Order: sequence, then structure tokens, then C-alpha cells
Amino acid sequence: MSKSGEFCPRCGDDVPKRPEPLPGEPRDRDAALCDACYFEDFDLVDAPDRIEVLVCSRCGAVHRGNRWLDVGAKDYTDVAVDEVAEALGVHLKAEQVQWGVEPEQVDQNTIRMHCTFSGLVRGTPVEEQVVVPVKVSRATCKRCGRISGGAYAGEVQVRAEERVPTKEERERAMEIAHDMVEEREADGDREAYVTEAKKVDDGADIKISTNKLGRMLSKRLVEEFGGSFEEYATLVTEDSDGNEVYRVTFAVHLPRYRPGEIIDPEDGDGPVLVTSVRGNLKGVRLTSGGRYEARFDEGDAPDALRLGGREDAVETTVVAVEDEHAVQVLDPETFESVSIARPDFFDPDADQVDVLKVRSGLYMVPEEGVTGA
Ligand SMILES: [Zn+2]
Ligand SMILES: [Zn+2]
Repeated sequence: MSKSGEFCPRCGDDVPKRPEPLPGEPRDRDAALCDACYFEDFDLVDAPDRIEVLVCSRCGAVHRGNRWLDVGAKDYTDVAVDEVAEALGVHLKAEQVQWGVEPEQVDQNTIRMHCTFSGLVRGTPVEEQVVVPVKVSRATCKRCGRISGGAYAGEVQVRAEERVPTKEERERAMEIAHDMVEEREADGDREAYVTEAKKVDDGADIKISTNKLGRMLSKRLVEEFGGSFEEYATLVTEDSDGNEVYRVTFAVHLPRYRPGEIIDPEDGDGPVLVTSVRGNLKGVRLTSGGRYEARFDEGDAPDALRLGGREDAVETTVVAVEDEHAVQVLDPETFESVSIARPDFFDPDADQVDVLKVRSGLYMVPEEGVTGA
């Protein structure tokens, strides 16, 4: 060791010359110590004696500071690791710090975290191990408390004009509600939740935490299914603090017809497979394959006879292609060969086609995705 002419203030040994702190940099009193004295008091890691974590037993949210946070933890060990990582402090002068942690489940509520730290201090490799017990306590967060108490501000009632929404429409409506809330949650919004979503005889009822969400959900449903919605305050009550609480009902009306339904507008051109009910009803003529669109004044609900749905169509055998306008197929009920209209969507190479039998006759039904020429 080259003599610097400086001495350790604690033991009096010679110390090598250290660089002067830069202007403005705080003068570190410990910097003057020799290595032996410096390491005598050195702690690489500053760890609390124990850590307590409050976790919501319903949703897994963690109480931090004075709020509940969704941490997306799969189990309490993940939560404990995160909490330990938050609580531990590593000495500022340590470089190239690495750490590892091994959780040891002591009992249901206690996890002992064995943490190993290593780093470089004054050019010397240092390693330190600390053990921090983490105690997990379970509680119910504010949001889960409200959900289990049945609190909600808006109710979206999904109904349909002159019919009952299908199973798919009801399930999709509830799925959209849950997806929407999940998106908000992912953005850190803990005020967004679905209190209850259930099928009812004539549709689906979705209770949701805020009116804003109720309105958003209603708009999304109309975007996807067509139709319209209206909202009205249904109930005024008082919360526990005596404030007035308005509950808003959002009445969503799905259109009279749904895509996939086969209707006869009785205009002489034959049945129509409905392909869209957003705006004016649109569809495909089963006789020609041409496009059908309801008049503006009819909108999504033209006067028409309901014949069935695409799901009622059955596969049958193509016997012969007669000409540009007709195809012979087997009647799926009598197995007699019958001549039916040949629409544009008919594939001349097809051996099988889907047909729907109604009172007025047999009609070819296109595969999904055909919207009319
Ligand atoms: Zn010393
Ligand atoms: Zn919770």
C-alpha cells in the first residue's frame, strides 16, 4: 500500500489516497475510514425484522399505504416476494448488486424469506444473508365488500324487440360486461366491477358499479348487436351516510331480427337471410343471392314473416345443375328430387348444399360470411 500521508480517523492506520468528492457531492465521513474499520460496521442490506401484508381473500388485492392495490399475484408467495423487494434497502455504495430469495412456507400465514445479496463495495465482493418473516393477514377489500353487499349504481337490462334474446346474445352481453370491467381494472380502476350478471326469462340483467360504466356497456352492446338503449333513474335511496343514491336502469333493446335469421319481407322476391341489423337491416336473397336492404323508414325492423334461422338449414345432396337459374336437389324430408332456385352463392362444384324447407318451398342457404352480391 502506498503511503498517502492520510490516516484512518478510527484506528490511525495509513489509508490510500481517495479521490476528493466532486463539487456539490456530500462529503462521506465513512469514506475516510480504512477498509477494516469500514467493513466492521458495514451492512449491505437494510431489512425490517418482519413484514405484515394484508391481502384481500376474495380478489387478491394487497393493502399498501392506505389503499388497496391489484397486484395480479397468483399466490401469497408472489405477494410476499414483492413486499420484501419493496421493503429491503441495499447500501448506496454497493455496485453490481444481485439478489435472490427463497421462500419457506412456515405455516398458512407465515412465509420466511431467505434473501441472499451480493455486490461489490470498495472493489471487494461482499455477500449478506437476511431472513425476513412475512405474515399474511386476510381481509376483504373495499371493492369486494361492496360487491358482496350487492352495491351497484347502474343496471343494464338486455332485451329484444318482439322476441327473447338468444342464449348467445345473453352470454355475449355478459362477456362484454366482464371484459370491459377487466380492461378498466387493468388500467388501475378499482371502482369498476360487475356486481351481478345473470340471465333472466326475457334477457339478461347486469348490475354494474357506476352509471358511466352502465352507459359505456349499453353503447358497446348497441355497437355490436344494433338496436338502441334508453336510460332512466329508477330508484332513489340513501346510503349509510344519508346521501341520496340514484340508480339508473339502462334498457337495451336488441333489434327485432338477429343476423342469421331467415325472414320473408313478402315483397315477391322471396326469403332473406339477415346478415346485419346495424342501421337498416341487410341480408341476402336466398333465391338469387342478391343483396337486400330494408328501406330507411323500416330501419332494422321491416315487416316480415319469420321463417327460421341458418341453424335450421340441413345439408342435402345436389342431384344436377339444371341451368343458370335452377338446381336439382334432394328434398331432405321426402328424398324426392326437386328443382329449386339457383342463387349466386351456389358453388357448381358442390355435391352438398344447405337448404331450408318452409311452407313456400325449399331454399338454398349460404355459408357464414356471405353478405349478398
Ligand atoms: Zn481503520
Ligand atoms: Zn378484494
